[in-house]
Amino acid sequence: MDSSPPFLVFGAPQIDEAEIDEVVACLRSGWLGTGPRVAQFERDFAAFRGVPPERVAAVNSCTAALHVSMLAAGIEPGAEVITTPLTFCATVNAILHAGLTPALADVDPASQNIDPAAIEATITPRTRAILPVHFAGRPCAMDQIMAIARKHDLVVIEDCAHAVEAEFEGRALGTFGDFGCFSFYVTKNVVTGEGGMIVGRSEERVARARILALHGMSKDAWHRFGDKGYKHYQVVECGFKYNMMDLQAAIGLHQLSRVEQNWRRRSAIWQRYDEAFAELPIGLPAPADANTRHGRHLYTVMIDVARSGVERDAFLEAMNAARIGTGVHYLSIPEHPYYQERFGWRPEQWPHATKLGRETVSLPLSPSMSDGDVERVIAAVRGIVRS
Ligand SMILES: *Cc1c(COP(=O)(O)O)cnc(C)c1O
Repeated sequence: MDSSPPFLVFGAPQIDEAEIDEVVACLRSGWLGTGPRVAQFERDFAAFRGVPPERVAAVNSCTAALHVSMLAAGIEPGAEVITTPLTFCATVNAILHAGLTPALADVDPASQNIDPAAIEATITPRTRAILPVHFAGRPCAMDQIMAIARKHDLVVIEDCAHAVEAEFEGRALGTFGDFGCFSFYVTKNVVTGEGGMIVGRSEERVARARILALHGMSKDAWHRFGDKGYKHYQVVECGFKYNMMDLQAAIGLHQLSRVEQNWRRRSAIWQRYDEAFAELPIGLPAPADANTRHGRHLYTVMIDVARSGVERDAFLEAMNAARIGTGVHYLSIPEHPYYQERFGWRPEQWPHATKLGRETVSLPLSPSMSDGDVERVIAAVRGIVRS
């Protein structure tokens, strides 16, 4: 008999009967594509973030949201967009897909977020936008970033993939910049399988992003084939196929209704980790900043061989041997050959992001974890690092 514990999947979503029933109801309704459930999800999301429904648009990923937001912002081709080297590749790829040029500004080593002073130092006459990423759910310094943007007349597009419920000085992330882009990928805080949302400051630009996300068509299928009679559409731009399906929104509606409950559960796990690891020779996430609400998306510890007595990659393997899934968020962008070859970037140019990327490990932090799962993670970490 196999006595090993079940593998603890990193970022496992918590799916309840409500989601399952809604997906089944959606299938039985016969309307799977973009329709009434997507419209409801957009209204709910707008209410959740405190913006009018005309200023949100659901899409099929955060990558798509970032891409069409940059296009809808009307930034001229080739212009530079400043972002962080400590992010998922999609952030940088979206800049490239929009025909723009990424420029990296190093992170603050404590917050792991883009450093406003580094943004200023990276601005050139060709800079047109800043793309901050609220890493791990920790809000970027939006007061300073927006001041820089105003001073230099720059567009701001917030990557809120980790930060759906986070706030800076009482205000929802994604509502500071011209656009906020959210992800509902399976490991994120609200899940639709694949999915994303655009929040924008300008109704006109959101309307343009919405058209770009569906072939450049002036009317979507629900409005063409719904019960109001056939409506002609016109193609007004060469758009993309980025629309969210009702099947996805069926999951998201119920996920969104439990966003607070899940945040509280992750916060409790976070606190338990903080207490359990306080005496261990590993780096812990900095405390949340005053006047912010941290999204508690990723609990990242730093494994420095000189201090912890184990290499980061050996730590990852030992966790896997203990049947616990982990993540690395992220090997810094300039570590990847594509960007090195295309832009000549070297990791040493962004020393903070590079060091963090070589030492970081994300521990499981999912609302689906039991107290027993949490203790298993703690025991495994204690057993692996120097005591
Ligand atoms: C997950 C993620 C994305 C991409 O989200 P998708 O919905 O998978 O396209 C972008 N940026 C960051 C920081 C992410 O973590």
